[in-house]
Amino acid sequence: MDFSLLDKPIQFLKGIGPRRAESLQRMGLVTARDLLFHVPRRYDDASTVQPIGELQVGMEATIRGTVRTKGVIPTRAGLRIFQVVLQDDSGRITVAWPGQPWLDRKLHEGDLLLVAGPVRFFHGPQIQPREYTLVARAGEADPADEAEGAIFVAYPASEDVPQWVLRGAFEKNLDRLLDLVSREEYLPDDERGRLGLPDLAEAFRRLHRPASLAEAEEGRRRLAFDELFFLQLVQAQVRHRQIEERPGIAFERSNALIRPLYEALPFELTHAQAAVLREISADMTSSARMNRLLQGDVGSGKTLVALFAMLIAAESGFQSVLLAPTELLAEQHARKLTELTQALPVEVALLTGRLGAAARREALGRLADGSATLIVGTHALLQEGVELARLGLVVVDEQHRFGVRQRMALADRTPTPDVLVMSATPIPRSLALTLYGDLDLSVIDELPPGRQPIRTYLRYPGKRDEVYRFVDTELARGRQAYVVYPLVEESEKVDLRAATQEFERLSSDVFAHRRLGLLHGQMHGDEKDATMRAFLQGDIELLVATSVIEVGIDVPNATMMVIEHAERFGLSQLHQLRGRVGRGADASHCILIAEAGGDTKERLKVFRDTTDGFEIARADLRIRGQGDLFGSMQHGRDPVLRFADLSRDESILIEAQRLARRIVDVDPELALEAHSRVRAVLEARFAERLKMFGVG
Ligand code: ADP
Ligand code: MG
Repeated sequence: MDFSLLDKPIQFLKGIGPRRAESLQRMGLVTARDLLFHVPRRYDDASTVQPIGELQVGMEATIRGTVRTKGVIPTRAGLRIFQVVLQDDSGRITVAWPGQPWLDRKLHEGDLLLVAGPVRFFHGPQIQPREYTLVARAGEADPADEAEGAIFVAYPASEDVPQWVLRGAFEKNLDRLLDLVSREEYLPDDERGRLGLPDLAEAFRRLHRPASLAEAEEGRRRLAFDELFFLQLVQAQVRHRQIEERPGIAFERSNALIRPLYEALPFELTHAQAAVLREISADMTSSARMNRLLQGDVGSGKTLVALFAMLIAAESGFQSVLLAPTELLAEQHARKLTELTQALPVEVALLTGRLGAAARREALGRLADGSATLIVGTHALLQEGVELARLGLVVVDEQHRFGVRQRMALADRTPTPDVLVMSATPIPRSLALTLYGDLDLSVIDELPPGRQPIRTYLRYPGKRDEVYRFVDTELARGRQAYVVYPLVEESEKVDLRAATQEFERLSSDVFAHRRLGLLHGQMHGDEKDATMRAFLQGDIELLVATSVIEVGIDVPNATMMVIEHAERFGLSQLHQLRGRVGRGADASHCILIAEAGGDTKERLKVFRDTTDGFEIARADLRIRGQGDLFGSMQHGRDPVLRFADLSRDESILIEAQRLARRIVDVDPELALEAHSRVRAVLEARFAERLKMFGVG
């Protein structure tokens, strides 16, 4: 299929000469397709734009008006303020840009501006814009007066490429571009109808030339569907390779091990645990291979669920492996499993890098001859020379620490073991489906009853001394505490210094009479382990750490956490950190020290008042946006998702996944004539961008 016309240089479009083409290129608009896919930044119409005459101090306003007067006003403090008076049919208002005197060169009397921001009182009502758009230069027609112009579309623009240039380019070329893109329609009409989505050309028409705000949204939804669909398609292919192309093990449940464990538990499973176990059991007893992600907050009882799964395998005479990211965690898991299975005829083995030669040889022997049934270990399990007699199930804890390849390395054998990946990082369902579209998803969204709540407080830095006194009273009661400093990747050295300096200050000053430890990301693995071990054993009372503190480590005696510069953390990260405390029978406290006003304070308050990790993750996604989450996955300057918004497109995503899996189930290589267009579009538009999802 020939899509080449859309991929021609943008210069071939009408009204775009070599110079303009050059400035468009600097914005990343290189081909005609780039222009078509240039997503508007915002839309305005009569319902979003307010008459200036009706503005009230305190409201958030969006206005359109003509510049009547302008000038730069110096203040006594040395700040220069660029100021204009904007006028529409209903009135006029001052618009001020403090500290941006250079705008004087760019905006002129007679220019038509769209301005959004809060209305304040400062020698009279005034708007300080959060953003503004130059709608039309003095003397140009107001696009709103033209026939289609009820909606004003604002594009990401640049110094060289202002709004009206982009708008002009669309006016002259959109019809042709729509015609070209219509050849890339891959959704059959009936499918589109079922999904309630417009066809491709119509979607772009609505995106760039909407008759209403609702139309613009419908256009976006269709294009969001495309992005999510192709992403799911690639992942469905990976999933297919992992599940369908190799026969799995159909375990048979005798309940010989499950029942005694269940009956010996001093508590009931939560509803969520029971539901998830049913999903796992169904997977494991079917002949298809299990490839499942188990998500649940710290302490939600994932390890117990994993043990049940391991026992299902053991009932059929298979071994299971539980892979942990650190030695400490592996040891902790091995201890738990040993305790829980004391009365059962199964044997737990531990394999880590810490074992001496003799112990290692002994453990390897038990793995190889099959006498060890539940095997816990670290990367050491992935090394050469590790033989397993009858591996049936691989459980991976904290999977983001292991690459997919490692995850699958162990499971790459015949018969093909089931795979259960556990993650204690709650993420919204939409994000989980996007990042792990090749896995099936199980969620434990409920904590066992009777947990001690963690009380969270927000304090300004000025209160630090008080906070430390509070910490010291806890330490005096024999409890332990963490003080955490943020770590920003760009300046690991600077942060390290911050934590190190604070460690020294605290050791010699406030907590001179206490035993302190320091933990940071540049320490070696065994140094880190030794420090955590000392903290676990109570030899360290106060642990000063950067945000590297091991996920999942259980120190029930630690009841206090102080987080410095809390404003620099994402909410989900704060939640992870807070999960280090509240693991014992005592009430725990988490104190956020932050220089926070306004939005930041609101954000931290959400965290203070919420303990549900999934709710926090959703808030985080909403507040920070998805850009952050995909930061490391950008393909050049092209975002992975430019139309889809995971904070509100979950239902589109679910449909996209359903369709993608349906297609791949019947035609994994997209070889059928019916899917030739899907394949062509995948190759032409998405293959490159989605490489990072083509895992495996
Ligand atoms: P996770 O692995 O999700 O962090 P664990 O499986 O380690 O959680 O469980 C945390 C603690 O809660 C353990 O001490 C476990 O025995 C206990 N626990 C697990 N499930 C329940 C339950 N349904 N009711 C009460 N306590 C539970
Ligand atoms: Mg199976």
